Amino acid sequence: MRILITGAAGFLGSHLCDRLLSEGHDVLGMDNFITGKPENLAHLAGNPRFTFFRHDVSNFIFIPGKVDAVLHFASPASPNPKSPVGYFNLPIQTMKAGALGTHHSLGVAKANGARFLLASTSEIYGDPLVHPQREDYPGNVDPTGPRAVYDEAKRFAEALTMAYNRTHNVDTRIVRIFNTYGPRMDLEDGRALPNFLKQALLGRPLTVYGDGSQTRSFCYVDDLVDGIVRLLHSNEHLPVNLGNPVEMTILEFAQAINRITGNLSGIAYLPDERSARDPQRRQPDIDRARALLGWEPRVGLEEGIQRTIPYFKSALGLA
Ligand code: NAD
Ligand code: UDP
Repeated sequence: MRILITGAAGFLGSHLCDRLLSEGHDVLGMDNFITGKPENLAHLAGNPRFTFFRHDVSNFIFIPGKVDAVLHFASPASPNPKSPVGYFNLPIQTMKAGALGTHHSLGVAKANGARFLLASTSEIYGDPLVHPQREDYPGNVDPTGPRAVYDEAKRFAEALTMAYNRTHNVDTRIVRIFNTYGPRMDLEDGRALPNFLKQALLGRPLTVYGDGSQTRSFCYVDDLVDGIVRLLHSNEHLPVNLGNPVEMTILEFAQAINRITGNLSGIAYLPDERSARDPQRRQPDIDRARALLGWEPRVGLEEGIQRTIPYFKSALGLA
């Protein structure tokens, strides 16, 4: 297949490029580097099956030649209010990537009779009142709240994707991605894993916001990419959750990272700077992914952290 991946220079997009190239596909990567980095794709320079387009998906997308699949991953993704690459500080760009970018990406799929896969998010469930989150839970999102620019853009993107499926028969898929980590995460984007692992490797205390009782579950990137590829090759049009169902508190997560890295500096509790609708509990129900895709995560937290450490050490100049 000839596959267009928007957001190709980002964390997940770059891993998808690698995986699909390794399966023998031709990959067209597109990115405007608003939160991603050319370094994430540097190893693909010279690969005759990889082509890169520097382009903002908020504008009309023109791709010469036939496209067989479009994977729309372009969007700021970090919820950290202090991060310059987080969506709090890129509110309009985030809404445009989710709304206009999804429209243009769907347009490419429609014009080519191509498959389309939307990268949606667990954030569409907002601060969930149902636990764990199943795909039929419609969510608890404040449309004018601080996270709305991301959550509502993704909810619009899901609605538009289903509209193109039902109205234009575009062969669409929607993946709702839960917290994922691994090499090539941006060390400065303020998400929990990069903050904690960077702090641990530098021998500093880990910054837990609030009392750390809020929960998440963390999926290693190779597991996630495997699920996305299975979904791409499936015939499922309704949303599918992909994530690791092992739920833990953020405090437990921080303690695990200190243990795995041997960091003795402990935890620094910081005022709850994320209290602006920081979801208190999050855990995917992955029964649909198990049944439809035969998928579940294989990499445990300790192994995933060990696989991520070399990238972080190199980025920190410790290796
Ligand atoms: P990332 O910031 O590393 O990657 C996003 C990429 O999209 C970046 O390279 C950025 O430059 C690019 N981009 C943003 N707006 C663009 C635009 N207008 N035109 C072209 N390129 C643009 O983030 P990520 O973690 O790799 O997330 C990728 C996708 O997965 C996002 O859509 C995100 O919402 C979704 N997602 C990620 C997670 C996670 O845990 N990483 C969880 C849920 C959903
Ligand atoms: N968090 C934290 N310390 C940090 C970064 C994040 O305690 O240095 C918390 C944050 O408040 C949230 C959780 O970790 O409850 C996960 O945050 P992340 O930014 O990774 O993603 P989210 O799941 O909120 O989208």
